[in-house]
Amino acid sequence: MAIQKTKRRFGPKIALSPRKTHTSTGAPLRPYEAKEIRLGGNTKTDANICDTVKGCAGRCSGCYAKNSQGVMFGRIDFDIPVSQILNPALLRWDCMQLIWNEPKIRWVRIGVMGDPSFDWDLTAATAEIIAETGLTPVVITKFWKIPSEETLTRMAIAGVKIHWSVIPGYDEHPEVSSRSRRIIQTLQKFNRMTKHENTFIRLCTFLFDANQEEGRLLWEAQEYFADTAKKNNWRIIETPWKMEPNDPRWPYVDKTAYDKAHSYADWSKKSRKETAGALYFHGDPYREKDSWAIGCVTTCGVCPNQCGTE
Ligand code: SF4
Repeated sequence: MAIQKTKRRFGPKIALSPRKTHTSTGAPLRPYEAKEIRLGGNTKTDANICDTVKGCAGRCSGCYAKNSQGVMFGRIDFDIPVSQILNPALLRWDCMQLIWNEPKIRWVRIGVMGDPSFDWDLTAATAEIIAETGLTPVVITKFWKIPSEETLTRMAIAGVKIHWSVIPGYDEHPEVSSRSRRIIQTLQKFNRMTKHENTFIRLCTFLFDANQEEGRLLWEAQEYFADTAKKNNWRIIETPWKMEPNDPRWPYVDKTAYDKAHSYADWSKKSRKETAGALYFHGDPYREKDSWAIGCVTTCGVCPNQCGTE
């Protein structure tokens, strides 16, 4: 019997987080202020993170940055990305302080409370300053905008490691999404620019229920991104998604496999979010750093792979 080939279609529409302009008491939200780019840290990371852009127009439901305390309880309009100010001397000073105070840390993450892709030129200039001090810049982005060839080249020369943060459902299967295809082509170009490992897919994973049509479409997209990484000789950094009680993906996952996640702030406590754990990363989260799939499953201080820089 001939197998009927069906044309791939888009997966289910995953709701964006609602556009919020006022607090619950009616006070208007304000965009982030443009301030000088400094190194800092948070409850998960070490003191080696910074933002070239604060805020993000992506409105992904469950975004860790948007939901973090400062934004939820403050009056920040996270949905408006705001470029920050590069003061090279100040950033160099922060990098030197990091080198003196934390000699084991040899890299700086750009992209925590916003997406660096909203200002690629500023991101490249920031990476160049970081690289000058001998630290490796790591850029984490959803590629809402594509960098020019010149900017991409500058970042390659600066030794940047790019992590494309992929969220199945928002990032569609490349067979139906020209956006996903364009990003993969950009990464392939970037990867060819240097000999060292500079490209990662930071894959947010879900245990989709492949027994139902919509869950299967999402599952196939997730698998495609993992396979694309493998075929291109890139590693994935797996981030098992932690589901909020109101996550719009609940109808498409295998709920029986989900359980309360640990809190990063205090590992002994369970958070209200639920996770199915890692699907691709199988090693010891405190030791394994050489496998194809590496896990982003601990706090940064004890993480063996250090965002792929080790
Ligand atoms: S991969 Fe490791 S160092 Fe990077 S964000 Fe995740 S836990 Fe932190």
